[in-house]
Amino acid sequence: MEYTEAELITIGDEILYGQTLDTNTQWMSVELDKIGIRIVRKTTVGDTEEAILQAFAEAESRAQLVLITGGLGPTPDDLTKPCLARYFHTELVLFQEALDQLTTFFESRGRKLNALNRTQAFLPQGCVMIPNTLGTAPGMWMQREGRVFISMPGVPHEMRKMMEDTILPKITATFQTPVFVHQMVRTVGIPESVLAVKIANWEKSLPDFTKLAYLPSLGQVRLRLTAKGTDKKGLEESVATEISKLKAHIGKYIYGYGEIRLEEAVGNLLKAQGKTIALAESCTGGLISHMITSVSGSSGYFRGSVIPYHNNLKKSLLGVTQEILETQGAVSEATVRQMAEEVRTLLGADIGIATSGIAGPTGATSEKPVGTIWIAVADDKTTQARLLQLTQARDVNIKLTAVAALNLLRQTLSEID
Ligand code: ATP
Ligand code: MG
Repeated sequence: MEYTEAELITIGDEILYGQTLDTNTQWMSVELDKIGIRIVRKTTVGDTEEAILQAFAEAESRAQLVLITGGLGPTPDDLTKPCLARYFHTELVLFQEALDQLTTFFESRGRKLNALNRTQAFLPQGCVMIPNTLGTAPGMWMQREGRVFISMPGVPHEMRKMMEDTILPKITATFQTPVFVHQMVRTVGIPESVLAVKIANWEKSLPDFTKLAYLPSLGQVRLRLTAKGTDKKGLEESVATEISKLKAHIGKYIYGYGEIRLEEAVGNLLKAQGKTIALAESCTGGLISHMITSVSGSSGYFRGSVIPYHNNLKKSLLGVTQEILETQGAVSEATVRQMAEEVRTLLGADIGIATSGIAGPTGATSEKPVGTIWIAVADDKTTQARLLQLTQARDVNIKLTAVAALNLLRQTLSEID
């Protein structure tokens, strides 16, 4: 589709000389991009009529939409309005609506309008006035032969409010702007690089109007699909089709769509199956329990947890034998299996989950380097255990273990191997 192209002009000596950092065009660029307007150039000019008029003419030769900030104040150095009037071959006339708003603005602050302030109610004839609810200088929308000039105050919060309330919606209504359809696919248990290889062909076959972004976090990768076009329903259907194709490649790693978190997705599975869980968290120190209980309604499936950090508690509370501890150690498959099975019966849950590992940076042995972690999930039929070989960083290891344990629970509930 055709894009509407825009140019941004900032006016003011203080920006040109570096006394004020131009933050206006940065913010405007982001907001315009969101509604599908393509920025083709940004220009800064000083407070001279010649420079301003030249910038207008150049911008008009390139873009359909010209957005201007600054130079709207009541002082003689503010030249934007007279320049606009001249450029559009018109003159400044009194806008009664602007005068009324200005009078109300001053009265609400217990001040009287003086002659200089009154000049702010004079705008180029034929323009559409854009109200300024936070200041005194109204904005202006001027249009000729399919080209639009929009002038706004330089004061950043006034400009932003005007853009949000009036200008962005008016641009969307005036110009053909694309529709965006986003969908987030949430995966767990597969590294970004492995995922990228698995879906490479699918990614290549995506339609031109659909973009894919990889958004990794600890233990998880979100895939964001963005389709851009004009027909919202058609785009939604296309995205749904692509996602069903994606499922054929990586379905078992997908735990949800949109904003859902892993602990919520697991909670939903537990609720749907009417199952309860209990945890024995050694190296995760309660993090998994915290994640689970951060979800509203978790009391329906979360029985409770034990944090048997000391080996004596692994023995006395969870029946890990002295023999296992001596021959295989606290960080071992035998230990986490026993912990998961025992906490399940101890706390009267359908499923028990256990973690034990060397989070680091101390505690490593020659056979068990930092990052060696065992997790297990036990139900009434089987117990599954996994060895994780993680990183040197303690906090990373703890978080990765929590995600891996929740994923093992998810796999057990969904009968994924
Ligand atoms: P005023 O009525 O306050 O004079 P104005 O439209 O004339 O508004 P300016 O005088 O250009 O605007 O600037 C007002 C304030 O906004 C100044 O503090 C200026 O530094 C700041 N400002 C102007 N342009 C920008 C910009 N592009 N980015 C960030 N701040 C800006
Ligand atoms: Mg000014």
